[in-house]
Amino acid sequence: MAKRSRDLPCCSFCGASKLELGKKPLVSGIDAYICPDCVSKCYDVLFESEILGKPSGSYEPEGKPVSFKKLPTPAEIKAHLDNYVIGQDYAKKVLSVAVYNHYKRLSVVKNDVEINKSNILLIGPTGSGKTLLAQTLAKFLDVPFAISDATTLTEAGYVGDDVENVIHRLLQNCDFDPIKAQRGIIYIDEIDKIGRKSENPSITRDVSGEGVQQALLKLIEGTIASVPPKGGRKNPMMDNIMVDTSRILFICGGAFSGLDKIIEKRINVDTGIGFGANIESDHSRSITELFSEVEPEDLVKFGIIPEFIGRLPVITALAKLDRSAMINILTQPKNALVKQYRALFDMEKFDLKFTDDALESIADLAIKKDTGARGLRSILEDILMDTMFQIPSRSHGGVVEVTKDVVDGKCPPIVTEDPGCVKDVKKSFEKEKKSKVKI
Ligand code: ADP
Repeated sequence: MAKRSRDLPCCSFCGASKLELGKKPLVSGIDAYICPDCVSKCYDVLFESEILGKPSGSYEPEGKPVSFKKLPTPAEIKAHLDNYVIGQDYAKKVLSVAVYNHYKRLSVVKNDVEINKSNILLIGPTGSGKTLLAQTLAKFLDVPFAISDATTLTEAGYVGDDVENVIHRLLQNCDFDPIKAQRGIIYIDEIDKIGRKSENPSITRDVSGEGVQQALLKLIEGTIASVPPKGGRKNPMMDNIMVDTSRILFICGGAFSGLDKIIEKRINVDTGIGFGANIESDHSRSITELFSEVEPEDLVKFGIIPEFIGRLPVITALAKLDRSAMINILTQPKNALVKQYRALFDMEKFDLKFTDDALESIADLAIKKDTGARGLRSILEDILMDTMFQIPSRSHGGVVEVTKDVVDGKCPPIVTEDPGCVKDVKKSFEKEKKSKVKI
């Protein structure tokens, strides 16, 4: 009779039986057994507490260098970003170098000089392209990518998202393969919202602010995160996935509203303008100019703990988008909104046209909304909604024109049907499949 698995020797740590372990050996001691997976976890614990160094052998997969067919140069990375992100030239340059150095660091097995990880802090107004930059980078490098919102995070044990769920999200995007996850990029949005409220550390525990910063700190600088495979809360009985976060590139972003005032005050003191000076004078600078002069001490004043800032050595500011940048965003990138809507209308055999002053008005409307380029899509959607509802029912194609008056709400888009352009539903469906612009 076959023995039941519970009668077989089992790992005394995780309970896996010899049967479940298959070919993996079970090491026996006095009255106890241990399986290779638990040996590996013990190793991680010892490594984390610096009792052991990284192994040189092949057992620990995370020790392997990250290989790219060919790591793109900073210039190549920036050239790719230029295709999708308008303006933000300096930020793109800084990011390209930081990302290149990060993956260069991971691509060497051993080096006499240990190159520290360069996590990145992006400071810039809402809708200026912070998330887009991180997303475009990850796509270009073909590495796993995840976005988390710092405002939803809490320290372990509190109600909310454990910081380790950030890693869980990354794992989800690479079939729960920890080796792939370790070469990934994590973007943490709204990092400014977890700043502590005053410069003096609070006596009471701060669940959403400093506590989260402390928890994130460990993750960002590098730890062995133990993540439950199917999300939810940690369970000591579950076989958690171990991810070495020291190889993950963290990009944090935030609008840091009010930081400009802190920077301005420091600059005025430094340059001897002093308190009480009229900051509306010649010395007053734009938010973009001020952000570009940010120093770590300003961020401490803002409420970010110094240790956290220390883990984000690359700090760069993004500019507030002006009218011409907005117009370029509408028309220039490979997947520009105007190109997307033109492709949609083209499927209906309509040529969608925008006059120059219409584009300017759309840009002005977005600036008024103060949500950066984020507002552009909803403005276009509002303008074209009714037309998009009607034209699929038309039997002819033609031209749809959007003028300034249309944007200003004085009239609907001007639809001119071309009787010579008879619609063929089947053909237009095929065209849809061939369309090159990704919608
Ligand atoms: P945030 O800075 O708040 O992270 P996002 O990167 O999420 O802003 O931008 C929102 C959307 O606005 C993007 O998906 C993109 O369509 C557009 N956008 C923002 N900034 C730019 C930019 N500099 N170039 C091109 N598109 C942009």
